[in-house]
Amino acid sequence: MNKRAVVTGAGGFIGHHLVSYLKQCDYWVRGVDLKQPEYESSKADEMLLLDLREFENCLEATKDMEEVYNLAADMGGIGYITAFHATIARNNTLINSHMLESSRLNNVSRFLYSSSACVYPGYKQELADVTPLKEEDAYPADPEEGYGWEKLFTEKMCQYYTEDHGLETRVVRFHNVYGPLGTYDGGKEKAPAALSRKIALVEDGGQIEVWGDGDQTRSFMYIDDCVEGIFRIMQSSYRWPLNLGTDRMVTINELIEIISAIAQKQVHKVHDLSKPQGVRGRNSDNTILNEIIGWAPSIDLEEGLEPTYNWILNELSAAGQKV
Ligand code: NAD
Repeated sequence: MNKRAVVTGAGGFIGHHLVSYLKQCDYWVRGVDLKQPEYESSKADEMLLLDLREFENCLEATKDMEEVYNLAADMGGIGYITAFHATIARNNTLINSHMLESSRLNNVSRFLYSSSACVYPGYKQELADVTPLKEEDAYPADPEEGYGWEKLFTEKMCQYYTEDHGLETRVVRFHNVYGPLGTYDGGKEKAPAALSRKIALVEDGGQIEVWGDGDQTRSFMYIDDCVEGIFRIMQSSYRWPLNLGTDRMVTINELIEIISAIAQKQVHKVHDLSKPQGVRGRNSDNTILNEIIGWAPSIDLEEGLEPTYNWILNELSAAGQKV
């Protein structure tokens, strides 16, 4: 008998890739989302279009499932998550509390929650040359407003469901995931996709707008590493939050240089200091991840950005944009 898993957020970027990964691992997969995946059809055995803010829909989503990969969330890039604190916090609180309770009622054997590096406190991320963040650094709490507070609260809910109800939970803190088939325009896109789009659309020697002074730092994880990491963590016996990211930190200006080299274009950066840039610096400490599963994301930024850039270039070209 194949293992049965549900992936929520299966119409979104990571969820869609995770469905494909689980299918390769011979799972029977149910995908759930408000929408179908945008750029390619789902490989899920069953794809349900449900609003998971409704409890009844969460019961339907988790019925007869062994593993729950709960990735559905109202989220976007820094512009989006800083603009809509109330809506994001409300939507995600509803989804996550209903998904936990319905998983308990339907006796699922494991529940994985997709948390975020946005749970880490602002006071640990004030310098571009930041010390990599360890899991324990999340407290004393001062996470990203709205989105980050909700993530931290749901991490706690997972702990309480384990302690009070014996539900096996896994909590993964993703650090900046990128790759093909991800949103690249419309306001919800993240830096690697937004910058790839801008560079694809500009003529050689032209100008692109950059949010902030570009010296803010991040680490980026390619989607193939992300889905493998999710699966490995789900199969592990570790119940506490774990970082899932790379520990190679680059500035946004360096990220632009890497993408420009792939595009074989010279671009001039015009920094807009009025735009949100998020925390000043952020990097992942992978010590516990390495200890627990003996593995960490390793796909190089240059290696992952090439297919990402080329996919966005092709999408823009197919949509009739001048690239
Ligand atoms: P995404 O926006 O591409 O996917 C999220 C999906 O959830 C979307 O398809 C959306 O339609 C769906 N969704 C939203 N509200 C819903 C509802 N009420 N009912 C059903 N489905 C609903 O985002 P993603 O990048 O794939 O992120 C997946 C998860 O990983 C999220 O929980 C996100 O917070 C977390 N995360 C992602 C990153 C990253 O870099 N992409 C970083 C940290 C954390």
